[in-house]
Amino acid sequence: MKVIEHIEKSSNPLFSFEIVPPPRGRTIQAVTDVVKTLLPYNPAWIDVTAHPAGAYYNEKSDGSIERKIYKKRPGTIGICGVIQNRFKVDTVTHLLTQGFTKEETEDALIELNYLGIHNVLALRGDGLNYNKKYDNKRQRNHYAIDLVEQISDVKKGIYMDEINESLPMDFCVGVAGYPEKHFEAPNMKLDIQRLKEKVNAGADYVVTQMFFKNNKYFEFVDSCKDAGIDCPIVPGIKVIKNLKQFRSVPSHFYVDFPDEFVEEAHENPDHVEEIGIRWAIKQGEELLNANVPSLHFYVMNDAKSVSQVVKKLFK
Ligand code: FAD
Repeated sequence: MKVIEHIEKSSNPLFSFEIVPPPRGRTIQAVTDVVKTLLPYNPAWIDVTAHPAGAYYNEKSDGSIERKIYKKRPGTIGICGVIQNRFKVDTVTHLLTQGFTKEETEDALIELNYLGIHNVLALRGDGLNYNKKYDNKRQRNHYAIDLVEQISDVKKGIYMDEINESLPMDFCVGVAGYPEKHFEAPNMKLDIQRLKEKVNAGADYVVTQMFFKNNKYFEFVDSCKDAGIDCPIVPGIKVIKNLKQFRSVPSHFYVDFPDEFVEEAHENPDHVEEIGIRWAIKQGEELLNANVPSLHFYVMNDAKSVSQVVKKLFK
């Protein structure tokens, strides 16, 4: 079932969560363990993140450029296929513009269609990527909106090349939204305008970046409505587990922590995990009371804390 159908049809509060493919060469077990931990609480759907390879470039003394790959995490589509078919839970495949050509994206969509996966989150992606040398004739998407447009075309049966007997494929498309503004956007107004363009191009729903102050989400939803965005906006939640994250999370995701959360955690460094769980439950309760479409948890690969939160919220 599509994400948008889950949201529209359910009379109960919903939750989803997001996991990351394991590092190269590992088995899928770490991922299936996470799924098994959260399965008893009935997630409506599960997202699997996507990652272009990361590379360093060093200029050598002879002027040539040496490329060193330092990160590779393929496997998003395969993992979605395994989860959806083994556990019978709908999956959402993250697709990126960065690091992929339009041809590769089209092939990925065809593969998803064969696997019966009809949900994708269309994203640009971040930071260093593979920077492969693209043949000029190969086309690339730049912003997430370009990807949404490509998927909207495929939904109408419009592919990159005209080939007989090509049929339309059906996808539900999510896009990212930022209650505290995307870090590159000059201001909130323009960022929301960009989000509206993604929705107008065919996105069915929005999932937000993680936030720790609910008022940021509520203000964002109001501003989106004022701008004419009327699709569901699913709030993203991260459960904090250790003190280190109070530095790493803002530097990666450009979000702000509430004073009382920071103070309580720093005054009780041995109890950060339980304080984080308590904070996420409080955030989740307030959001559910405000009738949000669903809660989306950034689990990555450790479901222990999140399972405590969903146990309390969705028991
Ligand atoms: P876009 O919508 O393209 O926006 C990027 C920036 O460009 C914004 O500042 C926007 O205002 C601006 N912009 C948009 N359109 C235009 C235009 N036409 N002209 C000028 N400026 C424009 N990253 C991963 O690598 N893998 C993942 O799996 C992943 N999953 C994510 C899941 C969620 C729910 C979220 C919120 C983020 C995720 N990210 C992931 C991170 C995401 O890729 C980054 O935040 C990235 O920097 C922006 O992606 P986007 O899709 O929002 O980009």
